[in-house]
Amino acid sequence: MESSRNKLIIIAAPSGAGKTSIVRCLLERLPEQLAFSVSCTTRSPRPGETDGKEYHFTTVESFESKIAKDELAEWEMVYFGKYYGTPVSELERIWQLGKTPLLDIDVKGGLNIRKRYPESSLAIFIDPPSLTELSRRLHARGTETPESLDARLNKATYEMSFKGEFDHVILNDELDKACNETEKLIRNFLQA
Ligand code: 5GP
Repeated sequence: MESSRNKLIIIAAPSGAGKTSIVRCLLERLPEQLAFSVSCTTRSPRPGETDGKEYHFTTVESFESKIAKDELAEWEMVYFGKYYGTPVSELERIWQLGKTPLLDIDVKGGLNIRKRYPESSLAIFIDPPSLTELSRRLHARGTETPESLDARLNKATYEMSFKGEFDHVILNDELDKACNETEKLIRNFLQA
């Protein structure tokens, strides 16, 4: 019998490391155990994104009011003055369902929330094969301007220096292999 209550799983990586694909794959493979934790952000929705699904898109005022009321389990200003944060209410909603929240968040946010829930979290760092490959993936995504691409690559270099602080590092050189390894870690964690 798996005990999922009040555990949480953090998947963090530099942008472009393939974190979102791994998160999607895990949600498909473990639908009874995991639920995606929908963050709040002040960035604008990208084409195809729906409020409440990928993110709760909010105003700066509303986000800052959540910070003031201590309603966020962690938050960061990730890029270009845009806030991103994990609402405590979102974690509680998922725990109420008897599932474990799966968080797709940035590296600093991942380490911060792990400090807040040290006994009950599993923190996994998704490692891109190289910065060259990371740059190629970000180009291929086609959602970046030259400036935002540069910002993401600079941040990625900085974020890679924190990977040793995570419980596990998964090299994403091949998506299926990375998903298999991550799934195994999560199954073990949920059963413990
Ligand atoms: P994007 O704008 O590409 O959706 O996300 C930018 C970065 O913000 C990604 O690394 C994503 O994982 C991270 N992110 C998403 N939600 C949160 C959150 O709630 N907290 C933090 N700290 N980072 C987040």
